[in-house]
Amino acid sequence: MTAWQVHRPGPIGTRQLRRVRLPVPEPGPGELLLRVLACAVCRTDLHLAEGDLAPHRPDTVPGHEVVGIVETAAEGFEPGERVGVAWLRWTCGVCRYCRRGAENLCPRSRYTGWDADGGYAEYCVAPADYVYRLPERYSDAEVAPLLCAGIIGYRALRQAQLPPGGRLGVYGFGASAHLASQVAINEGATVHVLTRSADARELALALGAASAGPADAPPPEPLDAAILFAPVGSLVPVALAALDRGGTLAVAGIHLSDIPVLNYQEHLFYERDLRSVTANTRVDGREFLAHAQRHRLAVSVTEYPLDAADRALADLAADRVTGAAVLVPR
Ligand SMILES: [Zn+2]
Ligand SMILES: [Zn+2]
Repeated sequence: MTAWQVHRPGPIGTRQLRRVRLPVPEPGPGELLLRVLACAVCRTDLHLAEGDLAPHRPDTVPGHEVVGIVETAAEGFEPGERVGVAWLRWTCGVCRYCRRGAENLCPRSRYTGWDADGGYAEYCVAPADYVYRLPERYSDAEVAPLLCAGIIGYRALRQAQLPPGGRLGVYGFGASAHLASQVAINEGATVHVLTRSADARELALALGAASAGPADAPPPEPLDAAILFAPVGSLVPVALAALDRGGTLAVAGIHLSDIPVLNYQEHLFYERDLRSVTANTRVDGREFLAHAQRHRLAVSVTEYPLDAADRALADLAADRVTGAAVLVPR
């Protein structure tokens, strides 16, 4: 099969990804063999390719938003079923975090496309216990970005602790933000989008945001909660200053540039909270996909052939992708 590997992590444009021919992988015990129908390109793939996230093993196939068809039956899944493989691939089930429902914090957790080969390929294997059944109302390319952008955005929204009918600020408006904003709007929130891209601001308004402005200007009203999707640490004080008393800022990214010095009175006093978001639990994934089945989310995707994975990553690095980039094997 054709696949891509992160061969030599480094700045984009230096051939960090290489296209290879590999044998079709063999499923181990409890694993499914999947024929890949679509795999979305996540910003985390870029961090892996550029070396911001150190490789866990050499020459790993990236891609953790994989839509596939089950080829060999296992663990209650039948051949021909369409399933999704996401970032969280395995947890220990016995540590203090796993036992209290916080498997996203498991120190032994493993990740698709980092600890094991992912979906930039024609086939992949995945543990059946961590695979999702998918809402039927979306095409393969549309449902792929729901598997990381969607699930992580959903967890970030939950971590932001937005009160019912509250005012939510969304900083940055890429694949994850545009999905989380729709969930918040479906749940009755007022959403203010703050982003530098004029195209993204237009999309935000079309999707039902109450306002859309530049990231460094204050929103039109104080916020009960905010989510920082842009990997830009200098926006942390900006977003904290926009919070109303008791508001929470959730930082959604796995990687963030340095946060400037905070001022206690200006940024944190009046019980404002700052918290990070780390991966997700399977419960988050199932809840979000159930929401996506009840509510038709608008998913904006740009398709690339699998052979153009390097171009898709370069386009993502240069902010040239509208919505989510999705690789489709031919
Ligand atoms: Zn991701
Ligand atoms: Zn654990």
